[in-house]
Amino acid sequence: MEITITKTTNPKKKPDKNNLVFGTVFTDHMFIMDYEEKRGWYNPRIVPYGPLQLEPACMVFHYAQETFEGLKAYKTKEGKIQLFRIQDNMKRLNQSNERLCIPKIDVDLAVEAIKTLVKVDQDWIPKMEGTSLYIRPFVIGTDNKIGVRPSSTYKFMVILSPVGSYYKEGIRPTKIYVEDKYVRAVPGGVGYAKTGGNYAASLKAQKEAKEKGYSEVLWLDGQQRKYVEEVGTSNAFFIVDGVAYTSPLQGSILAGITRNTTITLLKEMGIQVREERFTVDQLFQWHEEGKLEEAFATGTAAVISPIGQLGWKDKVAIINNFEIGKISQKIYDSITGIQNGTLEDKYHWITQLS
Ligand SMILES: *Cc1c(COP(=O)(O)O)cnc(C)c1O
Repeated sequence: MEITITKTTNPKKKPDKNNLVFGTVFTDHMFIMDYEEKRGWYNPRIVPYGPLQLEPACMVFHYAQETFEGLKAYKTKEGKIQLFRIQDNMKRLNQSNERLCIPKIDVDLAVEAIKTLVKVDQDWIPKMEGTSLYIRPFVIGTDNKIGVRPSSTYKFMVILSPVGSYYKEGIRPTKIYVEDKYVRAVPGGVGYAKTGGNYAASLKAQKEAKEKGYSEVLWLDGQQRKYVEEVGTSNAFFIVDGVAYTSPLQGSILAGITRNTTITLLKEMGIQVREERFTVDQLFQWHEEGKLEEAFATGTAAVISPIGQLGWKDKVAIINNFEIGKISQKIYDSITGIQNGTLEDKYHWITQLS
């Protein structure tokens, strides 16, 4: 399928590259492709960024049949444009689609769409260290019917947003609240899918954690509320006596691409990785015994976000003196180095735009 390109006749003024606030500014163009049951996916096109016309009866507004992804494009010192693990993001989009009864999208076509769109808007990619172009692919059900069933029409779209360095003032550890009232996901649910409803359902916990002075929550399992799962919209790692622990992929947590990258790099460093369930009791016990050396969250936005403090009921655990740990720093440097082209891409994670 040929991707058609209609360029804007009215380019926007580029934002101040020193003051980019995450997810607030969008580029000049967007990608759209439609789906109908009889035709499959059709009419892939790049058009000027702008509002959509949807009827109030549009299904996504009522039953949230939608999925999304998040990845980034980086500009190297030499001016080359690189995407990180894009195939993996598009495969994960299809896993989410499968769960939400959304038709699959050809991975190669989705990759081509993103590459073409990023090329059209390449002047929007900031160049300074730590900056990037955030890519947000998403799919919505668009039937104009209010009845609970899978939509028979969809739109797959991609929008782009230049983002500044997550760590302008250096990497700062965060305070994380162990959530024991609300749950994010349950076995058999949609926890492993990147679908809007998961995030709408998490807002209240995040809001209450902020009111208590914490920046995010650590989710526990939805059945027993005792096993550690993930942090906000990131996966969680704990270094205990030199061994890395992270929760296994059993359907309730998101299979983060940064999580997978981190596991690969930890193993390369000779660090044992245990993808096993462990309880929050155990975690606090490790801390009391002085064995909890480092803790960090992983995700596309921040890459590595060290956890400096955990709050749980009336307990507080300060981790590594509220400083970033050696392993966390090394993983951060390795991932960002591969992304921005200063380190070798041994695992073929990079797709370069020609
Ligand atoms: C997106 C996301 C992650 C991190 O995934 P990455 O691919 O590393 O960005 C982790 N948990 C949740 C709930 C997420 O939505």
